[in-house]
Amino acid sequence: MAYEFLYQKAEVFGIGNVDFSDDNVILMAGPCSVEDEKQMEAVAGEIKRHGLHFMRGGIFKPRTNPYSFQGLGTEGINMMCRVCRKHGLLSVSEVMDTRDVTMMSKSIDVLQIGCRSMQNFALLKEVGKSGKPVLLKRGMSATIEELLLAAEYILKEGGNKVMLCERGIRTFETETRNTIDISAVPVLKSKTKLPVIVDPSHAAGRKDIILSLSKAAIAAGANGIMVEVHPDPEGAKSDQKQQLSLEEFGLFVDGIKDFCSKLGKKLV
Ligand code: PEP
Ligand code: MN
Repeated sequence: MAYEFLYQKAEVFGIGNVDFSDDNVILMAGPCSVEDEKQMEAVAGEIKRHGLHFMRGGIFKPRTNPYSFQGLGTEGINMMCRVCRKHGLLSVSEVMDTRDVTMMSKSIDVLQIGCRSMQNFALLKEVGKSGKPVLLKRGMSATIEELLLAAEYILKEGGNKVMLCERGIRTFETETRNTIDISAVPVLKSKTKLPVIVDPSHAAGRKDIILSLSKAAIAAGANGIMVEVHPDPEGAKSDQKQQLSLEEFGLFVDGIKDFCSKLGKKLV
């Protein structure tokens, strides 16, 4: 039986004042984990200074080791919310548990589904029902089709603003944490109008190649990039190796702006 999928009928959308048309490249930035107010303030100030709109930050952290920092939890929601409101930024944060969806929907602008939760169907349905915009990350061993079908779970429940995020897949290669699948960008774009976001930070697991990977993603047609930034990457509570310092972030934004303008696109 042939299905008619909602992702095939999706239309281009906007979130807040940000339009996900092909003329724009959206840059979402922020620390891996929300740690304290000072850290969030420092990063938010930089995001704003560059004229960007989205700030990411993990409040509930999916960690491989149960003894690693698990995120600030509820306290982090208020912190992120205060800082984003003060700077007029839209917040992006991962929800891991169906029981937290209602609470997070009240204060977070974009609910992120992490790669480890991409096939948590109960969670997908719950975020779909919330009606909030969703950043859906591709599972580390998920096919492109499985990513689209995960998006379908959200769309089916009424959530119509779903962004698809390529964040690297697991391969035999050890130079990078994961392997960025650039093919996923044009393949997804050929199947749906849902925006495609690429996260080179989690794909690479190192920061020296983030600019190159971002340019490759944009050249392939990505609608946006998500990168991790921390005022003190070495002292970060998670993902120390891949987070850009504020200074590195400034250089990165300049590089991307320049690249976008050559392609006739605007970085927002
Ligand atoms: C994240 O973006 O905070 C994260 C944990 O990424 P992923 O789910 O892609 O590993
Ligand atoms: Mn991270």
